[in-house]
Amino acid sequence: MTSPSHTIDVPPPDAHQLTIGFIGLGNMGSGMTRNLQAAGFPLVVNDIRRESADALLAGGAQWADTPAAVAAASDVVITMLPTPRHVDAVVNGSTGILAGIADGGTWIDMSTSVPEVANQVRATTAHRALHILDAPVSGMSVGAANGMLQIFVGGDAADVARLRPVLEAMGDAERILHVGGHGAGYAVKLMINQLWFSHLVATAEVLSIGVKAGVDLGVLRESLIASPANSNFIQSDVLSILEHGDYDEGFAIALACKDLGLSIDLARSVGVPAEVSGLVEQIYRRARAQYGDLAGEMTPVKLYEDLIGVELRLADRGEAVA
Ligand code: NAD
Repeated sequence: MTSPSHTIDVPPPDAHQLTIGFIGLGNMGSGMTRNLQAAGFPLVVNDIRRESADALLAGGAQWADTPAAVAAASDVVITMLPTPRHVDAVVNGSTGILAGIADGGTWIDMSTSVPEVANQVRATTAHRALHILDAPVSGMSVGAANGMLQIFVGGDAADVARLRPVLEAMGDAERILHVGGHGAGYAVKLMINQLWFSHLVATAEVLSIGVKAGVDLGVLRESLIASPANSNFIQSDVLSILEHGDYDEGFAIALACKDLGLSIDLARSVGVPAEVSGLVEQIYRRARAQYGDLAGEMTPVKLYEDLIGVELRLADRGEAVA
């Protein structure tokens, strides 16, 4: 026992008292903010689409006209924006976060992005003692809506521990991972997407070849599942197409192409050849050109369906290898 008896222990600040500023109320941010609100966090929100905040404001959130005003009115500012360019504008613009955030304040970027903007902010604001985390997510808009996102956090351990209750309001507590220092969250997220998109293209290709060769789609899929070539994609994620013809418009292919481009940039910057990733990126870009920016992230499967003239659909879910 080292504390003198007359000292009063000051309890750590209750994270639930924190006012959260949130900028970017799109497919992901809308669900994430609903869950923060449901967990009891006071919210201050902003988006270039004012109407995206209607339900939150009805639930008691405050609107702020600029990112600077969001930052000035909150303890923690979260960004959930499409690309690094948007993050840069929202942080560094004349009415950006840096123009409003208090010294010692906290910014968490949950966008799928790259470290450059945050690195530059840390370099130019060292005297302001800001706490900055990168915390991109996986789990699609469904995971955002039901508060079950996986979150990959880069930054200081003390900040991650302090802000865990905020992250847990949006994510699955078991899958909120502190993956390393600043920038590690961005890198992990880009590698997850790169591998998932690669699974998607490879799966579309083998299903198309197998079906064209005369094998029943359900039998082919069950055979793959029973083999060393099984994957989470074949077992689970591809079913949205095979069962429902749903190519996941909750994540636009324009953003998927953005992620693939960032992933290739990362590979280039660390000097690792990325032949497979490069090919997957080209196939994604072809699908985007063909079906439009807003088509779902799984639309490259449609390229193969159009090529073979067959929609890959399971007629009967219960099919199994005889
Ligand atoms: P989205 O395009 O649906 O939403 C982005 C929001 O940001 C929009 O509401 C837009 O109006 C707003 N915005 C853009 N510029 C702004 C500005 N200057 N000021 C204020 N608001 C601005 O995108 P999303 O699908 O929600 O994705 C957001 C991020 O999450 C992206 O980096 C994406 O790669 C990543 N992500 C998406 C998914 C998914 O399934 N949708 C999954 C994981 C990660």
